[in-house]
Amino acid sequence: LVSCNEHKKTEFGNPIYLDSSASVNDRVTDLMSRMTLEDKVHQMCQYVGLEHMKAAESEISPEELEKNDALGFYPGMRPEDIARLTTEGKIGSFLHVVTPEEANYLQSLALKSPLKIPLLIGIDAIHGNGLVNGSTIYPSPISQAATFDDALIKEGSAQTAQEMRANGMHWTFAPNIDVLRDPRWGRTGETFGEDPYLVGNMGVAAITGLQSKDLSGPDHVVACAKHLIAGSSSVNGLNAAPTDVSKRTIFEIFLPPYRRAVQEANVFSIMTAHNEVAGMPGHMDEFMMTDLMRDRWGFKGFYVSDWNDISRIALWHHVAKDFKQAIEFSVNAGMDMNMHGPVFDKLLIELVKEGKVDESRVNDACSKILEAKFRLGLFENPYVDVKKANEVNFSKAHQETALAQAREAITLLKNNDILPLQGGKKSIFVTGPNANNETIMGDWVYQQPAENVTTVYQGLKALGEQKGYNVSYFNAGDRSKKMKDADIDKAAQLAKKADITILVLGENSFRYDWPNKTTGENIDRATLRLSGKQMDLANKVLANGKPVIVVYVSGSPIAEPSLEERAKAVVYAYEPGSFGGQAVAEAIFGDLNPSGKLPLTIPRSVGQLQMVYNHKPTAYIHKYNTEKKVPLHPFGFGLSYTEFKLSEPKLSKAKFVGKDDTINVSVDVTNTGKMDGTEVVQLYIRDDVSSYTRPVKELKGYKRVAVKAGETKTVTIPISAESLAFYDKDFNFVVEPGTFTIMTGSSSADKDLMKTTISVDNEIILDKN
Ligand code: BGC
Repeated sequence: LVSCNEHKKTEFGNPIYLDSSASVNDRVTDLMSRMTLEDKVHQMCQYVGLEHMKAAESEISPEELEKNDALGFYPGMRPEDIARLTTEGKIGSFLHVVTPEEANYLQSLALKSPLKIPLLIGIDAIHGNGLVNGSTIYPSPISQAATFDDALIKEGSAQTAQEMRANGMHWTFAPNIDVLRDPRWGRTGETFGEDPYLVGNMGVAAITGLQSKDLSGPDHVVACAKHLIAGSSSVNGLNAAPTDVSKRTIFEIFLPPYRRAVQEANVFSIMTAHNEVAGMPGHMDEFMMTDLMRDRWGFKGFYVSDWNDISRIALWHHVAKDFKQAIEFSVNAGMDMNMHGPVFDKLLIELVKEGKVDESRVNDACSKILEAKFRLGLFENPYVDVKKANEVNFSKAHQETALAQAREAITLLKNNDILPLQGGKKSIFVTGPNANNETIMGDWVYQQPAENVTTVYQGLKALGEQKGYNVSYFNAGDRSKKMKDADIDKAAQLAKKADITILVLGENSFRYDWPNKTTGENIDRATLRLSGKQMDLANKVLANGKPVIVVYVSGSPIAEPSLEERAKAVVYAYEPGSFGGQAVAEAIFGDLNPSGKLPLTIPRSVGQLQMVYNHKPTAYIHKYNTEKKVPLHPFGFGLSYTEFKLSEPKLSKAKFVGKDDTINVSVDVTNTGKMDGTEVVQLYIRDDVSSYTRPVKELKGYKRVAVKAGETKTVTIPISAESLAFYDKDFNFVVEPGTFTIMTGSSSADKDLMKTTISVDNEIILDKN
């Protein structure tokens, strides 16, 4: 290392790294040249925010603190120690700083450090900056995926980035682009569903909205594609449990969204997964992190560990003898930042000095982290204006986008001539555990101001009364576990007196309500049925014989076929966010014609799992002795208040030639009903004969189209070489010659699809291993 006097300076004598007119590259190089090994390792260290730490400390006993690694609080480590370390420049990043005041305070400490390197502050802003009070809460990712509207997801993500930056946060641990294959997984609501193409599109949209092209500008943040890889498909449906799928499945199902996040959206960070795959913990998987993502697919950003997961290489997985060896394996595999806590720095410095980790790894990690800080403009603007944060949070435009997403997501699963409710003067009774609380907001949301949230009941009451209905509510138990039989009986009596009952059922992943959660991170389900006594409530209300409309508020799918048979209508609202209640009410009363489509299969029972639409040809050769082999609802399904007639697919040509070729597929969509509406036209492909078995169909394109009653519109969906490609025996990404069935229609079910064929004469190689 050169000494300080030898460093290059600008013409005014300032170091180049502090000169905003110098290129990011030059600034990184200059700053790196001034840093010791220790300084660089410290940039790789992330800690949890002070307020968060204080809150957690007050909730747990010292004994628990000692033993509970999951909470990650280190005995003897207190907020004042963390403040000191920040001032000494020994912390590069924080997570879960939840107020702009705290962000400013921490930055002021970091700027007292010798090199004055600002902090990169990360947070789980998963659907809005929900851990921060007063933020716009967009529908959760599973709900967003149901819109099939990439542009709207991009818009919400860009707004989330604005709210984050206004509050002093620069990096979100989103999007979660895990492809859902097992809805027992409590994190189902955090995903964009079961299809690699849809997840990939949503992921690219979210990342582009969050980061823009290159992170420049004051309103963008670093996105984080997570979790590499396949934790959504553990052997028993439990979070962090082993995944044991084949390399082929990893490449065909789980990796496509990651490749696209890197290649199409330049995602600047990736988080590795808690779980192992076939014996290899995600946090030390060198093939995945370095050989594949960096060297083959060109990832240019940095890796962050998941919460305490480097230490868990030793603690949980037992493939390293201690934390030090775990760090060695992880950093050598490609890890760049440790979430969260002390000791990591000391041990990594030792490892470099002992020659077990090459210093070049530390240099790579540090320079990427610094690059992010320069690109984001943090050296110029480390602080935020607290007053401005209040203006940006929950601003009008953001509210509108959150509402638009909730509206487009709502998926009508059944309608027996009851919806939309029309005519007024009728009495409507609303009940159920999710009717009148914040469950609509989903996971990764802390308490929000009550006036920012419209519950389902509030929405129904406001709009219903405007339309002349009498809308009443009874709380039969706020959370399923707390339901009392007497309250259920009372609800049933009240339902008997009303003309129509709206039962708002489902699960609860609202993070702030942690003790009562029935799904969400680390809360997985052993059944897909409604939890607690919800079916008792439903059965008693249905026994009245009066019309019942079921509204599901849930990030995880509900498999209750008998309930759906008896209900007059079933509306799936997912976790629709701050404005969920308004959107549901609009759908019920017909101000909104539902257009959402299922981004996941809803099975009839847990025993049908794994049940996905894009299964292999032999999945249903045989049958169950006690269950049907069809789902309750297929992927891509969703009704409307109007009817659409879709034409056969028309091709611009039938032969696909070469890497850059495109075939356009057109479909005429006629609204044959009486109400204006929106259809999502879907395009699926099947490789008719292939060298390895291929799914019976795979989504490769879709388009939302608004069509007025009586009108016809034509949509065109392109087929690219990528739509036809898969991995050959050597894991090259290729299109094999032969024919492909092209299917278009309104859902993934065969009865909703029409077919045609295209062909390819010669092999096309897209990406060589
Ligand atoms: C989750 C991550 C999250 C992190 C920080 C972990 O438990 O798996 O998705 O980003 O916590 O909150």
